Order: sequence, then C-alpha cells, then structure tokens
Amino acid sequence: MNKKSIIVAGAGHGGIAAAAHLAKQGFDVTILEKKPKGKLGYDWTDIFAPGALTGTGIPMPDESKYEYKENMTFLSPSLRKPITQNVPQNELEIKMERSDIYEHLINYAKKCGAKVEYEVTVKAPITIGNRVVGVETDKGERLSPLVIDACGLNSPLRTGMPNGILMEKNIGRNNRFYVYRAFYSRLGDSIPEHNYKVYMLQQGKA
Ligand SMILES: Cc1cc2nc3c(=O)[nH]c(=O)nc-3n(C[C@H](O)[C@H](O)[C@H](O)COP(=O)(O)OP(=O)(O)OC[C@H]3O[C@@H](n4cnc5c(N)ncnc54)[C@H](O)[C@@H]3O)c2cc1C
Repeated sequence: MNKKSIIVAGAGHGGIAAAAHLAKQGFDVTILEKKPKGKLGYDWTDIFAPGALTGTGIPMPDESKYEYKENMTFLSPSLRKPITQNVPQNELEIKMERSDIYEHLINYAKKCGAKVEYEVTVKAPITIGNRVVGVETDKGERLSPLVIDACGLNSPLRTGMPNGILMEKNIGRNNRFYVYRAFYSRLGDSIPEHNYKVYMLQQGKA
C-alpha cells in the first residue's frame, strides 16, 4: 500500500514532534531542514513542563540529560530587592540543553519512521490556486499532498502564500523579541538566595 506522503518544512520542536506523530500513524513523512545535521537550535537551556513530552506520547529523555528547575533569584536594575521565585513542588519543570532536546526528539521521530533531510532550504510554496501542492527548495521541487509549515517566525512558506489567503505574511517589529545569553562575573556584594540565578541588567550598566 502506498503511504500518503507529508513534507514537514523545518526541524524545530514543532516540526519534529508533528513529524513523529504522523510517521507513527503510518504516513510517509520527510522533514526538510536548512541547517546541517547536529547544528539544530542554538546555545540555550530550555525550561519546560515534562507534560509537554509525556502529554503527547513522547518518551522522557535519559535522566542524565535533564535536571529539575530550582528556585530562582532575579536581580533587575530597576528593583532594589531581588525577586525570588519558588517553584511549587507539584509544578516542577525540567531544564535541558536545547541541543539535547533536539537530539532526543529527532531520535524519537526517526524511530517512528520519519526521515530527515538536512541542508535543504525551503524557498517557497508550490501552489495550484489556493492549494499548496509542494515546496520549492534550493535542491529542487518537492511535491506532496500535504505540507506542514514549521519554519518558525520567518517562514518563506507563510510569506509566499497566495494573496487570496487570509494569512498574516509579515511579522512586525513589535511582534518579535531578541534575546542574548551571556555570562558575567557578579559585581557588588548582593548575595542571591538561590544557586540557580538569573541576572537581568540593563545593557551597558552591568
Ligand atoms: C531565546 C529563547 C528562549 C526560549 N526559551 C524557551 C524555554 O525555556 N521554554 C520553552 O518552552 N520555550 C522557549 N522558547 C520558545 C521556543 O524556542 C519556541 O516556541 C519554539 O522553538 C518554536 O518551535 P518551532 O518548531 O515552531 O520553530 P523553531 O524552533 O523556530 O524551528 C524552525 C526550524 O525551521 C528551520 N527553518 C527555518 N527556515 C527554514 C527554511 N526556509 N527551510 C528549511 N528549514 C528552515 C530552522 O532552522 C529551525 O530548525 C524560547 C525561545 C527563544 C527565542
């Protein structure tokens, strides 16, 4: 029996999870990802509820790959006192390196039967009327009866959709935020209460 094919554009958390679930249900799923193998995501420690995995049937990663989030202390430039955030025991979230999350999700998706093609950049949707029938990539056209756009914020599939479709094409300046992670030595003598600390300091005033 010919399995129905599905293209998932983008191997972010969303794309990989969708691909895994669909492959598990018997579809012939291919993820197209512009980044090279082993280079997904960026240097970041994510914090999330384990239910984000278990609630959708994705197994938990190996215990060595994550820790439970601890209480935190925020030091902000506009507040004199640190803010402590105590994590209720019944709402424990886990923290895990983003690269490890990707590895875990990709392994699971592959186990479910999904294929991943790296270094394939999706350029635009191929449409017939208002219907998407495939994608143009830097490696040629790929036709498929179902395309899932999981390219994230700046998706060329979204911006390339025909005008007749009521879809927000561009993300405005006020709709996005930029975050940078850096490590500094702490100045002054304020001692945060907890070991896991987040310092929020105004740029240039640290
Ligand atoms: C700094 C930061 C910290 C965050 N921390 C947390 C956290 O602690 N906990 C939490 O739950 N969430 C966190 N988030 C939010 C979380 O990262 C996003 O919600 C999530 O990544 C969205 O997943 P996605 O699959 O929709 O898109 P993305 O993760 O953006 O994935 C898109 C994928 O598509 C690929 N792609 C893009 N364009 C193309 C193309 N043209 N062709 C082929 N492939 C393409 C990209 O390379 C990428 O792999 C954070 C976000 C940021 C920015």
